[in-house]
Amino acid sequence: MNRELHALYERLHGADREDARRAARELNSRGDVVAVSACLLGERVRYDGADKLDPRVPARLGGRTVLPICPEMLAGLGTPRPAIHFAHGDGDALLEGAGAAIDEHGRDAGPALRLGAERAAELVGLAGARGAILKARSPSCGLLQVHTGAGLSPGRGCFAALLVRAGLDCDDEEGAKYTR
Ligand code: SF4
Repeated sequence: MNRELHALYERLHGADREDARRAARELNSRGDVVAVSACLLGERVRYDGADKLDPRVPARLGGRTVLPICPEMLAGLGTPRPAIHFAHGDGDALLEGAGAAIDEHGRDAGPALRLGAERAAELVGLAGARGAILKARSPSCGLLQVHTGAGLSPGRGCFAALLVRAGLDCDDEEGAKYTR
């Protein structure tokens, strides 16, 4: 991630939530905004403290305005943090009150997933993003599959579910696209 994009990430995820909203609105004025999972851009925000920099992603961003976003950092989960998986359902089910997510210590992670997804979706909305490139298989960002107690299962992460509901054109770093 270049210095400018990193500074934008810091503003969007800082303690001053009003400034984060201002930063998102400033992006809106530039137009053609795409939300991107921050770990794919090289931010070290994954549960294990690493990034998931993927050269396929910057190659797809030419000329677009990028909103680097990490719902789990917006939830205040920090890094490193215990890995999360779905015990029941997926992100859609969680939003409807029917799913459950736990961390690797068995603690309820559903409220944090939901909070992060809602905060991230608010910024995406303020930025006017029409599309998103999301990290596959994450409990927040996964678009087609998520980890469950039984392994990988079809489903969406909590943040991805909100973006799909909002009508964004979403795909993941592997090019897999959500189709209605
Ligand atoms: Fe954050 Fe999403 Fe990347 Fe997980 S997959 S580290 S929630 S941006």
